[in-house]
Amino acid sequence: MAEAAPLPLPPGSAVGILGGGQLGRMLAIAAARLGLEAHIYDPDPAPPAAAVATRHVQGAYDDAAALARFAAGVQVATFEFESVPAATAAAVAAHTALRPNARAFAIAQDRALEKAFLEETGLAPAPWVAIEAEAEIAPALARLGGAAILKTRRLGYDGKGQARIAGAEEAGTAWAAIGAVPAVLERVVPFTAELSVIAARGVDGAVAAYDPGRNEHADGILRRTTIPAGLPASVLQDAVLAAGRILRALDYVGVIGVEFFFAPGASGGPLFVNEIAPRVHNTGHWTIEACAVDQFEQHIRAVAGWPLGDGARHADAVMTNLIGDEAAAWAELAAEPGAALHLYGKAEIRPGRKMGHVTHVTPRRAG
Ligand code: AMP
Repeated sequence: MAEAAPLPLPPGSAVGILGGGQLGRMLAIAAARLGLEAHIYDPDPAPPAAAVATRHVQGAYDDAAALARFAAGVQVATFEFESVPAATAAAVAAHTALRPNARAFAIAQDRALEKAFLEETGLAPAPWVAIEAEAEIAPALARLGGAAILKTRRLGYDGKGQARIAGAEEAGTAWAAIGAVPAVLERVVPFTAELSVIAARGVDGAVAAYDPGRNEHADGILRRTTIPAGLPASVLQDAVLAAGRILRALDYVGVIGVEFFFAPGASGGPLFVNEIAPRVHNTGHWTIEACAVDQFEQHIRAVAGWPLGDGARHADAVMTNLIGDEAAAWAELAAEPGAALHLYGKAEIRPGRKMGHVTHVTPRRAG
């Protein structure tokens, strides 16, 4: 293990970002604003983040030599995606500081570990049962009572690797649909709103959270985040407190996204934690326009050992993802008053692909 660089990392230091998608791109832009270099590691020859970074090391996530070369050139490394193989994280951590830590990734990558962790931390995931074989689904369904969702333990995101089950007769189809792999069965939570908290913890243990946003999904993909969320203040406060508990329990450094269901009247509710994302998060993009220090800068500050910045919200915002060919309307969107347009520089438009987002900002009202 190389000696960790003294903190805070001064301007001119290099922050390594594994993953060169839009999150890596916005992290690199934030790093540049603070006078830090961003080095991107990505297997793609021209990932979106490389266009705005100091350096791009191209290599596979199991290429130990390329990872070592990348890690040796940076004073801290971080990730923009959570499906980081444990061996990749270990290869990087052998040569430089890794923030957040490998345990946070291990927990967030496995829905069963994640739910067990949440329960140990005193928080409520959706009621669930771990599933190892098809035969376990029917009894688990009976135990949960009512409709449920079968989700792969690992490598599921944006609604992928999931199958809804209304009754025991659908167990076989659902098991086949997720690829007959270890899974969790979750009760369908009768939520009236989905919300998320983007929060951060510094190397010194300081915690800061952005105002919770309200999220709408379509086909399992985030469509829109609205801030303020328009939910009771006590609910928002509980969500922020839950995010803080998660950060402390993981001894976490960096930005985290915590997704919740709000289900008033549900037993064990009203707040259920759906998912932890150990990284900057799509539902935090609104912070770029509506806060002095946005989630990307906050993450860079945290991992570089800087003090956390002021994330107070000075505007109301609605962030809408531009998915697939919606980004073709860029010229009209660019002409809209109050609209901040972000395009990720992805050459190929594919259905379901996040091509950019647009944030509409208005002066802050109460709430
Ligand atoms: P996930 O990939 O687990 O975040 O799920 C994607 C979306 O599916 C969520 O944002 C919800 O809209 C919906 N969903 C997932 N799990 C549940 C659940 N237990 N109850 C109700 N809706 C769910």
